[in-house]
Amino acid sequence: MEPVIVLVGRPNVGKSTLFNYLTRSRDALVADYPGLTRDRQYGRGKVGSRPYIVVDTGGLGDDPEGVALGMQSQAMRALDEADVVLFLVDARAGLTAADEELATVLRRRGTPLYLVVNKVDGMNRAMAGAEFHRLGLGEPHMIAASQGTHVAPFIEQVLTDLAPQESGPEGLPAELEEGIKVAVVGRPNVGKSTLVNRMLGEERVLVYDMPGTTRDSIFIPFERDDCQYTLIDTAGVRRRARIDEAVEKFSVVKTLQAIEAANVVIMVVDAHEAVTDQDASLAGHVLESGRALVLAVNKWDGLQPAQKESVRRQLDVKLGFLDFARTHYISALHGSGVGLLFDDIRKAYDAAMRKLSTPLLNEVLSDAVAAHEPPLVHGRRIKLRYAHQGGQNPPLIVIHGNQTEKVPAGYRRYLINVFRRELGLQGTPVRIEFKTGQ
Ligand code: GDP
Ligand code: GDP
Repeated sequence: MEPVIVLVGRPNVGKSTLFNYLTRSRDALVADYPGLTRDRQYGRGKVGSRPYIVVDTGGLGDDPEGVALGMQSQAMRALDEADVVLFLVDARAGLTAADEELATVLRRRGTPLYLVVNKVDGMNRAMAGAEFHRLGLGEPHMIAASQGTHVAPFIEQVLTDLAPQESGPEGLPAELEEGIKVAVVGRPNVGKSTLVNRMLGEERVLVYDMPGTTRDSIFIPFERDDCQYTLIDTAGVRRRARIDEAVEKFSVVKTLQAIEAANVVIMVVDAHEAVTDQDASLAGHVLESGRALVLAVNKWDGLQPAQKESVRRQLDVKLGFLDFARTHYISALHGSGVGLLFDDIRKAYDAAMRKLSTPLLNEVLSDAVAAHEPPLVHGRRIKLRYAHQGGQNPPLIVIHGNQTEKVPAGYRRYLINVFRRELGLQGTPVRIEFKTGQ
């Protein structure tokens, strides 16, 4: 599971600047969740090959009382899900009473914590850090978030320090690694728990709590039609109830981790409500992850034909970029359409994991190029010579040629569509990487 880094500090110390830097370093689109959980922003990033989730908690009060109050707020619930906290202070503003109050509260929580002194650009680093030793939070780490100075090595250090406890005592039992890992995700109240219960039926299931912090996701192995699945349950549907448990049922962190751990994602939307920006943003995360996807439009019961038509139109407009995924109109409550989901989960999984032979890829490529030549660039035609598979889940097709860096986005889309159609790659994103030379 990707570790969760939470940014905390007074307003204006540079949290959102650091958040942007940490999430931009990833090539692909980063969607946040505006309005989904107010006051918090979630993103994903990578240093080297190491992924993480980063959460910006937004501002706490600027005065000590405000800090105490703010710690009770929704925004600070993010701390419950933190593997590590970065406590930001401002080198230019110097140490404030609010910083000291915040330090006291954070120290008491016991989550691993780093003191980060931001905005040291153009300052003497030793001087900038000196006064913050007084916080008693160990050695301050000096950075300039707006320029990214010293950020990457620091984050790498943070992740290295975390690594030993990350894998847990035993890791996942081997049987959970077999079969198709399926994550059911969606906004609160779209019907995820109802759907999970439907999919599991009345079966008595074994429930594996993932070791970790309070945010443990649950892995449930089950069998259906001779096929092995492991459901990654973010909603805690089948978890024994813990009376002392006051965590929110919905968690963005769990959702992002479940997507990452899955082979196939079932994204649930609510037909009784408009397709929202949050749905689109979540869908963006699924797309970015490269996971195979089945779209489940739930609560299809009791809708008038005109309402159904309006839902279909909204899906086209707002989630049109998920055109590779199959859409199912279901009622988790009544069970209609749920059985059919399994067919497409299997098909999407098979497509995502398919081994594509080089001769076949080259045949499809040369037919595609013959039907529709790549454009000329400065009077020279882009040449696409041969293809081979570069990876699975999602399928990656590497195409070698000349001037491939000039291939327009539209032509890339055309090729993806041809490969998808000719190879029957339904339900999974397909990626193409161009290489010039050889
Ligand atoms: P937040 O309220 O903690 O999220 O703070 P912001 O990220 O919005 O930053 C507050 C202000 O500090 C903005 O004007 C930033 O441009 C500025 N800032 C952030 N990081 C740096 C830095 O490393 N150096 C300097 N000089 N300014 C910074
Ligand atoms: P979750 O927050 O996504 O896990 O959503 P729940 O499974 O808790 O469902 C939220 C509400 O929607 C509950 O009141 C369910 O009974 C209701 N619900 C779930 N699925 C359906 C459905 O297919 N049709 C209708 N009409 N209601 C549903």
